[in-house]
Amino acid sequence: ERRAALASSSGPGATSDGHKVPLLANVGGPADVPAAVEAGAEGVGLFRTEFLFLDDSKQAPSEAKQVEAYRQVLEAFPEGRVVVRVLDAGADKPLDFLTPADEPNPALGVRGLRTLLDHPDVLRTQLQALAKAAEGLPVYLEVMAPMVADRLDAKAFADACREAGLQAKFGAMVEIPSAALRARSILQEVEFLSLGTNDLAQYTFAADRQVGAVSRLQDPWQPALLDLVAASAEAAKAEGKSCGVCGEAASDPLLACVLTGLGVTSLSMGAASIPYVRATLAKHTLAQCERAAAAARAADTAEDARAAAQAVLSGE
Ligand code: PEP
Ligand code: MG
Repeated sequence: ERRAALASSSGPGATSDGHKVPLLANVGGPADVPAAVEAGAEGVGLFRTEFLFLDDSKQAPSEAKQVEAYRQVLEAFPEGRVVVRVLDAGADKPLDFLTPADEPNPALGVRGLRTLLDHPDVLRTQLQALAKAAEGLPVYLEVMAPMVADRLDAKAFADACREAGLQAKFGAMVEIPSAALRARSILQEVEFLSLGTNDLAQYTFAADRQVGAVSRLQDPWQPALLDLVAASAEAAKAEGKSCGVCGEAASDPLLACVLTGLGVTSLSMGAASIPYVRATLAKHTLAQCERAAAAARAADTAEDARAAAQAVLSGE
């Protein structure tokens, strides 16, 4: 039955009553593009550019090298969306020449956007490379910053994008609870939000994503995490802007329905998950997804949230 569902799975992501939820791919560079195209991704929802920086531990890749890599990804999705995340260095993704070596708690230190604001030359080169890569292409480029904590962070990033002459939409990742709680304020500076549920769970539950012993708290079905997703999606709706999910949560077909019910506007995941998410979403109406989302949020544990959503979605 699973095979049959997958075989019939193609086309844009949507609920059974036609509410569109673009299904996008998470990629780390040009090498991941064929699988994304094969899975029918409608674009890229998270291009993790830090992989380009791993080859050389002493310096950032040249602008020319970056232009080449960005262009290969952008060219693969003519007319599609490509959301590029600027370098997310630090914590679980340390880079020798950028990441402070002496921090007691690297996940709470200078990482993500904070690193780039301390190294404006690295950010400028990356944004200029993106501007050049997109030149003359019909693609719809969006650029977002990781680890945005507040409106000042969002403004600093948007200013840097404008100064680099980037013709694109600028966005903020929601990975820190403060950003979810004050999403409307952040949206005064940027045009879209993208929820990084891996880090959002880490910071909401004070549970290191690299420590297996606290993995129970990293479960994206945790109702507190769902509350923060809902707050972000509601803020985006009120501002007439979009709010996607690009963390692991989007790759769980049942949870993808719940996220849709919470008001999330696109889902980005590893290419291999796209057919499963597409097939499951296509079986339920938006109203069913909304009821499943409400049932999950009414639960007190991740396990109960999942069971409650499952009951709603299979019982109707
Ligand atoms: C996340 O934190 O959910 C995310 C998408 O970014 P990364 O996993 O690369 O930190
Ligand atoms: Mg993250």
